[in-house]
Amino acid sequence: MIEFLIINTDYGDNDIYMKAAVAENQKISIQEMPQPTLQEHGAKGAIVKVLGCGLCGSDIVKFIHDGNAKVLGHEVVGEIVEINNGMFSKLKKGDKVVLGHHVPCMDCDYCRNQSYSMCRQFKKTNIFPGGFAEYIYVSPLHLQNTVFKTPEKLDDMEISFMEPLACCVRAVERAGVHKGTTSLVIGLGSIGLLMGQAVKAFEGDVIGCDLIEERVALANNLNFDVSLKFKDNDATSAKIKEMTCSIGADIVFMTAGSDSTLDFALKSVRDGGTILVFSSVKNDTTGYTNNEIYYRELKILGSYSPSPEDLETAYNLLTKKKVIVKYLSTVYPLEDIGRAIEDTMTNKTLKAYIKIGQN
Ligand SMILES: [Zn+2]
Ligand SMILES: [Zn+2]
Repeated sequence: MIEFLIINTDYGDNDIYMKAAVAENQKISIQEMPQPTLQEHGAKGAIVKVLGCGLCGSDIVKFIHDGNAKVLGHEVVGEIVEINNGMFSKLKKGDKVVLGHHVPCMDCDYCRNQSYSMCRQFKKTNIFPGGFAEYIYVSPLHLQNTVFKTPEKLDDMEISFMEPLACCVRAVERAGVHKGTTSLVIGLGSIGLLMGQAVKAFEGDVIGCDLIEERVALANNLNFDVSLKFKDNDATSAKIKEMTCSIGADIVFMTAGSDSTLDFALKSVRDGGTILVFSSVKNDTTGYTNNEIYYRELKILGSYSPSPEDLETAYNLLTKKKVIVKYLSTVYPLEDIGRAIEDTMTNKTLKAYIKIGQN
């Protein structure tokens, strides 16, 4: 059970305080902390009142493995309540926005080779203190590159999928999905369901696979060409072969982090095909064997985090309803964030959206 408490602290100075969910040593609690101000950030940038924030798998990994006190959350929808935007006139006070949390420099060797998420600036830039807070500080760099006005056609929860979908868009582009390719998506959690729809948006065919019946059914309702319940590595990869003229999938997306899925991926990918690694595994020493990669001419690729361009592509896919996210999220109030984490970890919910403020 995730411990959950509300701490009210009396501070005696002139700061304005806000509520935030603070994670520390596998516990999360609602605490009061000073509201960020523009003044403490050189009077430039924006203060955004957070309306809601999606709970990402990477938040859960940090919750479990990083003991330091921190405010998680980066899939933010909010309203600009204060802005000093200088030359960036596209945004103003009162605008409702959705944003990405890392900004590449677009100028270093990594960026010039499209490895944006490896750019040294990328990880250094972040929103402050994190999305599970009533207010966040957003820098001028973010305002210029990763902040978008929310579209009228979508509700807050739907557009909060921009960042996770952008991660999938990047993966689909890196893997080379195009018309005529068949992809297998292993794992139909929220990321698997986004990935499959992203594959379709790039005109590829897609097979989905998961252990949980309801997720398989959901994928079938979300435009996957076919999805099936995982049985075991041999039986299920035989089925994949059957569906692909005995060849195997051109591309396998590994969105489920389990060691045994590596063997399943190797059995299901065609010779000369691509395996796109999109999740961490518990036992990191279980790997792809050298000889299998060599003799079968496999491509093993990683894909991690999106560029500003991927964010824009994802924004457009959501706005044009080419990717449907309406049925993926369950809404929790900030006070219930402990339950949201627990429900996500135990597969009771596909994806949690934490509702924080109102506009
Ligand atoms: Zn995320
Ligand atoms: Zn760079």
